[in-house]
Amino acid sequence: MSKDLVFATDIDGCVLKMNDLFADYFSEKYKTCLRYEDITDYNIENLIEGITKDEVREAFYDIIDQQTLEVEDQSKEVLSWVSELSKRVLIFITSRNPKLGVKTYDNLNKFFNDMDFVVFHEQKETRKSDYINKYGINLFIEDNLDTALDIVANTNCKVLLRDRPWNRHINIKSFKNLERVFNWIQVRDFIYANYNC
Ligand SMILES: [Mg+2]
Repeated sequence: MSKDLVFATDIDGCVLKMNDLFADYFSEKYKTCLRYEDITDYNIENLIEGITKDEVREAFYDIIDQQTLEVEDQSKEVLSWVSELSKRVLIFITSRNPKLGVKTYDNLNKFFNDMDFVVFHEQKETRKSDYINKYGINLFIEDNLDTALDIVANTNCKVLLRDRPWNRHINIKSFKNLERVFNWIQVRDFIYANYNC
């Protein structure tokens, strides 16, 4: 039986193309040859010898600051449709530090200024799964495998894992409520097939 959609999505790696810029940033700053395809670990400090977690964080902040992030193909169209369909404010849930709140809003407002949206920031005491339970979200888009696994283990929410080089190391077929998608059109088609439209 179809149900009403209560939707939310992660931002970086799902809606905004963070990691393409990350690869370029690192190649330029640290004279490495890191390409998008080489990012096979979500924690980039594990991929480049001598790079610390703090340097990765600094790169992340720099990129956000530059406001050069681009939007994922078709995400704008699909999110606009979702927002009308669900008759709700669009919810983004991010692991970005809450102190990046204003900059995050600016990043998103560049592309989604015609939609009402809200951003929740994951923190130590409030994980994404907590927000999902609190707001009864039943469909979430995520690219971090650990986060996706935490959500399916602790909520009844369906998670569509956006395929990325950093989340291919586990076969997710055995996990209930977890499915891999390769683009936003597949997200749209999944909603068509499973929710009241
Ligand atoms: Mg992400």
